[in-house]
Amino acid sequence: MNEFALIQHYFKQAAVVTCNDSICEPCEPVVLGIGDDAAIVQPPAGQQLVITSDTLVAGRHFPVDTPAHAIGWKAAAVNLSDIAAMGARPYAVLLAISLPDVNPDWLAQFSRGFFDCCAPEKVQLIGGDTTKSSLLSITVTALGWVEQAKAIRRDGAQVDDLIVVSNTLGDAAYALKQPKSDLQHRLDYPQPQNRLGMALNGYATSMLDVSDGLAQDLGHILTASGVGANLHLENLPLSATVQQLPQPQAWQLALNGGDDYALCFTIAAKRFEQFCQQYARQFELQVIGQITAGTGLSLLHHQQPYTMNLQGYQHFD
Ligand code: ADP
Ligand code: MG
Repeated sequence: MNEFALIQHYFKQAAVVTCNDSICEPCEPVVLGIGDDAAIVQPPAGQQLVITSDTLVAGRHFPVDTPAHAIGWKAAAVNLSDIAAMGARPYAVLLAISLPDVNPDWLAQFSRGFFDCCAPEKVQLIGGDTTKSSLLSITVTALGWVEQAKAIRRDGAQVDDLIVVSNTLGDAAYALKQPKSDLQHRLDYPQPQNRLGMALNGYATSMLDVSDGLAQDLGHILTASGVGANLHLENLPLSATVQQLPQPQAWQLALNGGDDYALCFTIAAKRFEQFCQQYARQFELQVIGQITAGTGLSLLHHQQPYTMNLQGYQHFD
């Protein structure tokens, strides 16, 4: 199978099939999708383009024996998560893939996983690139829209804001250490929180998605906003499995483990109350701390200072 047949079969056709699906209707029209030199999209009036790119390399971002369906899912999910973290509405993705060989089964599973993640958000694949390389590598670019100047950035946290996270923390890091545990799906199938991200627009003062460990990622909000934070360890949301670990170990996973793809945001206490009233029980949210006038992250356990090594994932260490 040559490159053009491969694109046609696994990416263009699959995209059309998914978009005819009832779950995907009504898709916002793309002016021109896969097939020409470049895609064309028409920005909605008054909206800003939010754009992001993330690469997954075999053996680095996922174990080499990860099922193709999960790789496809995750490649889309980590990018949709970044769009969610801006409070934007995801719109379309581009997929640049380098493959060691053409394995029809693998490609069928991969593309299905990719579209399974995109379909619920009505996100369409509008282009990309396909090359041969000894190492499997996947780069996805995601596009989203947000009302003019309404994106939720990292630099908006205010003193006394609550710090809130969605979803349990440390599960993916646990699965990486304990393959085939009951948390394996949390590593293989991160759930981008797009509905929550959009709902928080107009409520959250700052936000990001937790991909490299909560402590490091929350640190980015603190630095960008010029504030500090108190974090209450007893409030960290942990799954039942992680909770069974000795406490310091569970906190290590929750604070330093990567790949959670939860959203972490700051919000004024009053606005949080209003948000919870409006979206009663639609989202699992946990208040884990407050923004302070200080600098850096202070850990507290039942109000007592607690010391712990905080180091998230870094590529060039
Ligand atoms: P060019 O040589 O002009 O870069 P390509 O042959 O690489 O064009 O791609 C042909 C068309 O297929 C383009 O519209 C491109 O965006 C699309 N395409 C290529 N690879 C992929 C892919 N992996 N997923 C989705 N679209 C792709
Ligand atoms: Mg090309």
